[in-house]
Amino acid sequence: MQPYGIHTVGDVPLLTDLLSELGIAYANQPVLPVWVTQTLNKDVMTHVQQGGVVVAVLPRIAPTHHTEYSVYHGSHVPFPYDIERIGTGLILKISQESLSYRADHQRNWHKVGLQDRAYALVPATSVAKDRILQFFADMLRIAFAHLNLPLVHLWFFPHKARTHFTIRVDADWYDEQEWVSTRQFLAPLGSHASWFLTCRDVARQPDVLKPLIATGVEIGSHSYYHYTFKDVANNATNIQMADHVLRTHGIDVQSFVSPSAKWNPALQQTIEQQTYLYSSEFNYAHDAYPLTPSLPRGTSASLQVPVHPVCPINFSKFPNQSSEGIHAYYRVVARSLYDRGLPLHLYGHPSDLPLLEGSGLLEDILSWPHLSVSTLREYASWWKMRLKPLTLSYERSADATVRFATEGSLDSSHSFALSTKPYEVILKDGSSFEWSPASAPTYTLTANFPSSFVFEPIHRSLNLRSKIGEWLDFEYIVPAADYKATTLKTGVNKILKKIHRIGV
Ligand SMILES: [Zn+2]
Repeated sequence: MQPYGIHTVGDVPLLTDLLSELGIAYANQPVLPVWVTQTLNKDVMTHVQQGGVVVAVLPRIAPTHHTEYSVYHGSHVPFPYDIERIGTGLILKISQESLSYRADHQRNWHKVGLQDRAYALVPATSVAKDRILQFFADMLRIAFAHLNLPLVHLWFFPHKARTHFTIRVDADWYDEQEWVSTRQFLAPLGSHASWFLTCRDVARQPDVLKPLIATGVEIGSHSYYHYTFKDVANNATNIQMADHVLRTHGIDVQSFVSPSAKWNPALQQTIEQQTYLYSSEFNYAHDAYPLTPSLPRGTSASLQVPVHPVCPINFSKFPNQSSEGIHAYYRVVARSLYDRGLPLHLYGHPSDLPLLEGSGLLEDILSWPHLSVSTLREYASWWKMRLKPLTLSYERSADATVRFATEGSLDSSHSFALSTKPYEVILKDGSSFEWSPASAPTYTLTANFPSSFVFEPIHRSLNLRSKIGEWLDFEYIVPAADYKATTLKTGVNKILKKIHRIGV
C-alpha cells in the first residue's frame, strides 16, 4: 500500500483549514503524492522535476486558465489558475487572493430572489464561500488526476445523505401567539429544529420556555440584548447574561447566533472564550459547509455553521410580493441547495416563519430521498468528529482498479466521496474500498444556482451621522448600566448613552 493524501509544505494555515473542511487526508509528510505549498522553494522544485505534483498558492500568478464560477455574488471575478508542466511533473498555481476571500466578513446589502417573481433585501457577506472550497477541490482533482488517482475525501453529510436539512429560528422577542404558530409550522420537523433566544424577554418569565423545551428542539443563545458589539468586553457581558438566563431555565447552552447576523473578530474571540461548539452568522458565511473562521492569530476552535441568509420578512422590503412568489422562492432555493449537495439550513423568526404556513414546503423537502435531518447542534457535533486527522493508503491492481484503506476506524455515519469528474461524487463506506465508478449512490452535483436566482449587491450610502454611529458602535438597545466602558471609544459611547438617558 502507498500513502494517499496531501503533503503540506511548511506552515500553511489557510490551506490546512481548507483541507480539513474538504475532509482529505493531509500531513507534513513528503511521501504523500500531492504537495500543497505557499513557496516554490528548492525542495518543491526538485519534487516537480522528479515527476511530482504540486498545488502552489502564490501572491502573484500569470493565469492561463479560469474556472467558470466566480467568488463574488453578482459580479464575475473568476478564479484564475495556471498549469505549468515540467517534464512529467506538474505545478498548479493558484492566486492567494482567491482563497483569502474566505476571511471576508463585510456586511453588504443584496437584492436576493427569483427573477420577476419575488425579491428580498438581505445583509450578508458577498462571498460565496462554498465556491472557494469547490475551486480548491477542483485544483486538487486536477492534481490527483495527473497521477491517475481520484480525489478522495470525507463526505459532507452523515449516512451518505445528499444534504442536511433543518430550520433555525431566531426569536428576537417573546410573543406567545407567534411562538405557538411557529411551533405548529415546524411540527413536521419534530425535535429537529434549532431555536435561538434573545434572552431579555424571557429572563423574568420562568414559564414561557416550558412548551418550547417540551418539544425537544435545540435551544441556543441569541444574546441578552439584540445587538452585536465590535469589542470583546460588551459582547462577553451580553453573551454571559444570556447564558445565565438559559441555564436558569435548565438549558445546556452550546450554540450562539449573533444579533443581525453580524460577525467580527472580537465576537469570534468571545464565542471561543464561552467555548460554544458553534455559531452561525451569515455576515461570515452562508450556503456553505461548516468552516472554522480565520482569525489574525490563527484558526478559531469554534465552528461556523452557515444557513441560507433569507428570512420571509426580508421580502416585505420590496413592494408587491405575492405569497406564491415567496413560496416559489423557497422551493427553488431548497431544491437547488439539495441538487448542489450544500447544507439546506433555512432560517426565520417566530414573526415571519408562519408566513410559509400552507406552502407545503417542509412536507415537500422531508419527502426527498437521501436527506439527513437533525438540529444544527447535532450536525455541528458530527462535523467536529469529521475534522479528526485521517490516514489513507492505496494500492493499484493490474487491471487499474485502485483499492483504498483507512488506518483506524471511522464512525459508521461517515463515508468517502470519490470525485470522478467535475461535480460527480461516488460515495463509499468503510475502512477499505475500491474505486469502481459503477457503485451507488452517485450524485451529480450542479455548480450554480439556476439562472432565475438573483443575488445582487445593492449600494446603500450612509449619511455622516450614521457613519459616526457605525464607527462608535452606538446603539439605543443596551442600557448604560449594562454597558462596559473599557476603551476611549466605549467610554465616549457610555457618556452618550447617559446623555440620551437610555436605561436610566
Ligand atoms: Zn435576531
